Amino acid sequence: MKKIDLHLHSDLSSDGKVSFEKIVRKLKEENVQTAALTNHIPEVPGHLWYASCNAVVNLKKERDKLEDTYGVRILVGAEIDVIDVSGRLAAPESLIDEFEFIISGVHRYPNATRGRWFHGSRLPVPNADSMHYGPAQYYAITEGILKNEQVTVLAHPLFAYDFLFPPHKKAEAIRSFPEIYKREIMRIAAEEGKAVELNSDDIDRMDDAWFSFGQTYGTMYSIGSDAHSLKHVGDVKKSYEYVQKYKIPEERIIHVG
Ligand SMILES: [Zn+2]
Ligand SMILES: [Zn+2]
Repeated sequence: MKKIDLHLHSDLSSDGKVSFEKIVRKLKEENVQTAALTNHIPEVPGHLWYASCNAVVNLKKERDKLEDTYGVRILVGAEIDVIDVSGRLAAPESLIDEFEFIISGVHRYPNATRGRWFHGSRLPVPNADSMHYGPAQYYAITEGILKNEQVTVLAHPLFAYDFLFPPHKKAEAIRSFPEIYKREIMRIAAEEGKAVELNSDDIDRMDDAWFSFGQTYGTMYSIGSDAHSLKHVGDVKKSYEYVQKYKIPEERIIHVG
């Protein structure tokens, strides 16, 4: 089976640490054939990292050279937040048009901002954007993402869903995410021609029900490490373990590049 890694953050992402070149070199070592650079874009003050179309054009030039040197196919993409349940992406259209591959997932809900963080912890400070929302709201944002034709991949389903629960309630929160929403996510993804990501860093949130609905509707999948450091670049072992476990045929894994 072809090895892909379609979710990677470089040092152009505020939370990434690795240069583009180091990423591509590591992908070569890991025998990844096709990959995508997908740095974060939430369009809030101080957080628009791909600041201009020129920056993306230059990145594509750098990519051309790296492809020649290392023989790995790389898409210059982005992981773009949505601004509300309509699924509209938080970036100017001119910038969106420059990207070759767009993934989007819920990082906060309703996701208008990325919130703030407690010192050293992953808990967001509850704010007007993220309080008082439940599974229906989470689902609504996800549906908006799936219905946006600019998006190719729904990144890490349920990633942010447990953020608002205290530590001892998180596992239960994930388990009790309503099955009807899992079904609709997999059904709409199939209908809209989107791939649902098997995110190596986050795949434990997906239980049997997701894959059973995926089987029913013929949903496509994407594979990504979500690497923010060199160590994790190309580390997609866990995703492929799920591919094996749920007997997902190669033709149901997204083909890009
Ligand atoms: Zn993400
Ligand atoms: Zn990511």
